[in-house]
Amino acid sequence: MSRQPSIRTALPRAQPVGHASLRRANLSLVLRHLRDEGSCSRSDVADATGLHRATVSSLMAELIERGLVRELGTARAGAIGRPRRAVALDGSHVGALGMEINVDYIAVHGIDLGGRVLVERRIGFDAMGEGPDRSLVELGRVARKAIAEMRRAGAAPGGIVVAVPGLVDIGPGVVTLAPNLGWDDLPLAERLRAELGGFRAPVGVDNDANLSALAEYTSGVAAGTPDMVYLTGEVGVGGGIMVGGRLLRGADGFSGEVGHLPVNPSGRRCGCGRTGCWETKVGLAALVRAATPDRAYERGAAAPPDPEVRVKEISRALAAGEPRTLAAVAEVGRWLGLGGSILVNLFNPRVIVIGGYFARLAERLIPPAQAELERLVVAGPAARCRFLASNLGFGAASRGAASMVVDHIMDDPAAIGFAPVARSSVGSV
Ligand SMILES: [Zn+2]
Repeated sequence: MSRQPSIRTALPRAQPVGHASLRRANLSLVLRHLRDEGSCSRSDVADATGLHRATVSSLMAELIERGLVRELGTARAGAIGRPRRAVALDGSHVGALGMEINVDYIAVHGIDLGGRVLVERRIGFDAMGEGPDRSLVELGRVARKAIAEMRRAGAAPGGIVVAVPGLVDIGPGVVTLAPNLGWDDLPLAERLRAELGGFRAPVGVDNDANLSALAEYTSGVAAGTPDMVYLTGEVGVGGGIMVGGRLLRGADGFSGEVGHLPVNPSGRRCGCGRTGCWETKVGLAALVRAATPDRAYERGAAAPPDPEVRVKEISRALAAGEPRTLAAVAEVGRWLGLGGSILVNLFNPRVIVIGGYFARLAERLIPPAQAELERLVVAGPAARCRFLASNLGFGAASRGAASMVVDHIMDDPAAIGFAPVARSSVGSV
């Protein structure tokens, strides 16, 4: 598994003090060492971490008890010396559940700590039409089913993170504003926890673009690229920004609202109420309006048009060489490059990963976008930044949500406050 630095996660964290705090930090240190280095002996861990051997033994006993580490049996280091028992991260008993609720679907991605995918599905659901109450009931139903399936596979979820397309106050897990869902000030974490009854592990909420950026960083086309921007190409446009291998949060957790960069002050009114935002030039609604004005999105329409259908229509028109569609896509590409150049001037990323509909039309969008970016970026070498199409599809945000849960467990293994299911292999020497 790739190395991954600690990130500020959306999951609530206990705030122990003094000795308890030190012990939790040491549990995390030992667990991360095992994840990064594979199997090793207790004395290897002591040497690598600088902890006393007795401390490592005590920490290891707790990690084994929590089902996070297992004994592998006896290994001899070299030809001489005492045989030493090796230990390894045991990913199979503890799970991580990532979910996403978006305008027209709910997605789930459940894995165990070893990265084995246990549940993965996308369910069509009109979240905007159903409203927050019915959406929460459905989210709870989908979560309960996924939890049951994960438990049957032997991995009890050690946490849930839900991705939402909007502004999220990650501390309390409140959706401050999700214009495309019609939600504001919705205490999603608390409400989902109530739907789940006795679920004891932490529940968190985060922005979909942030979580998609995390998925790209851990397993996408730009995996491991520490300085990277991810753009969601939907009706709205959001951004997740990785700086030095960390998700940029900002003072209040609201960084990355790149769709509302005011790039065209004399332009159209945006869904946010302001004028000339970047998404009024590059969002799917802008493309549809330019390519097929008779099919334009209408605000307040009873049923939002299916983005999949729109993208297929545009792809067909492109393949047929329809001039208005070709011109409209090239124009979106140029605006993509203009906004991209602002992001490059600000953050100097190595790549800008484009997801959603951008990825589907990447072949036509990237050439004009790249040319415009290179024309507008101030620092010459920064213009080496490349647009890349995401290949994670609609699963990116839920996948990122699951990896955030894994990171939370790695950060605070003591948060696993329950007996994991299926302990039969634990403790065998
Ligand atoms: Zn706006």
